[in-house]
Amino acid sequence: GKPRVVVVGGGAGGATAARYIAKDSKGAVDVTLIEPSRMYYTCFFSNLYLGGIKTIDDLGHSYGTMAAGGVNVVHDWAVGVDRDAKTVTLAGGASVLYDKLILSPGIDFVDGAVAGWDLSSQNAMPHAYKGGSQTELLKAQIAAMPQGGTFAMVAPPNPYRCPPGPYERVSMVAHYLKANNPTAKIIVADPKPKFSKQGLFQEGWGKHYSGMIDWIGDDFGGGNVSVDPGAMTVTIDGEVTKVDVCNVIPAMKAGRIAELAGVTDGKFAPVNAIDMSTKADADVYVLGDASQQGDMPKSGFSANSQAKVCANAVRGALTGSRVFPAKFSNTCWSLIDTNDGVKVGATYEATDEKIAKVDGFISATGETAEVRKATYEESEGWYAGITADMFG
Ligand code: FAD
Repeated sequence: GKPRVVVVGGGAGGATAARYIAKDSKGAVDVTLIEPSRMYYTCFFSNLYLGGIKTIDDLGHSYGTMAAGGVNVVHDWAVGVDRDAKTVTLAGGASVLYDKLILSPGIDFVDGAVAGWDLSSQNAMPHAYKGGSQTELLKAQIAAMPQGGTFAMVAPPNPYRCPPGPYERVSMVAHYLKANNPTAKIIVADPKPKFSKQGLFQEGWGKHYSGMIDWIGDDFGGGNVSVDPGAMTVTIDGEVTKVDVCNVIPAMKAGRIAELAGVTDGKFAPVNAIDMSTKADADVYVLGDASQQGDMPKSGFSANSQAKVCANAVRGALTGSRVFPAKFSNTCWSLIDTNDGVKVGATYEATDEKIAKVDGFISATGETAEVRKATYEESEGWYAGITADMFG
């Protein structure tokens, strides 16, 4: 019969890989995508939803077009991988055979990473670091804050998905509060001494949200933090603060199925840069946030870029089609205030060791309003492009 590819996870990495293999092989390869959700809500642009610039419907995408394009979309959870038998077991009880298995399950949280917090606390203190209901919950909590209330964030340690994500979120929450709750305060407890695009964010915070945001980095005890979801308190370096909203973003690891497949080092899955195959098994590939690949940040752009390299290599291995040299790129845009967009990005190549950075760029402080608006518009174009690339 035809060669079989099974893809687990229909997000930035998995949806792209499934669609490209199905589309480019023109039916020569059977592609099955395992994804529990009927709708994928992007984390990218979810901060703009918190800021009131996008709606939740702007973020939701279904798998119907992809199915019509030839991908066998199965809405279920993968709960086990047998690498000897080459099967994936689903929560519903079925088992699917593969010749090549592509895992792109995103992230899960490290147990006990933030003292006082676990998954049973995520309704009181949302992470909103997986898309959809958590993002909606966080927005509802921000809207319900009393006048002059306090929004706290516990930022994650490296490495985590979307390095500028927490700081874009702080910007967008401030944007919302400035208009709706101008005496409110934002406190960020951060286990890192510095963060992505820090100069650009801090310049923007001073310009647009002066006096509203208190960022407490590791040098000031930001890493010494615990929370009490029942009492709605955050303790930073011994000081207890009562808060109205607490956004806890814990330390991250690869989505659990990568661990169950036995291809991680306990945290993430080491892969070969040339095709994203795992170091543990040449027939199992890991894309996106779950992979440990080298220099690329964990982003939707990166996952999509890695997926195209992987899809090309997998199709080549199964059908003998031409395989192009692995080249990768990424840009992370962030919106600081309306039309005030900034970006950081790079191109990458595959070396024997890792995905290695070739060349990079970053927005400058002090740019004109025109440049910042153009940068924001570029990000809108990117969003339209990547979602079309993922879902058809
Ligand atoms: P995901 O896109 O998370 O996809 C994983 C999928 O796997 C999910 O749909 C999940 O349901 C499924 N899954 C998990 N386990 C199983 C299982 N056992 N069986 C079946 N399915 C499973 N990136 C950017 O490029 N630009 C941005 O502006 C940007 N902004 C962001 C802002 C925020 C607030 C956040 C949180 C992230 C942002 N990102 C951004 C990062 C981006 O969302 C991720 O890096 C990207 O989604 C990673 O793709 P992935 O395929 O690894 O995982």
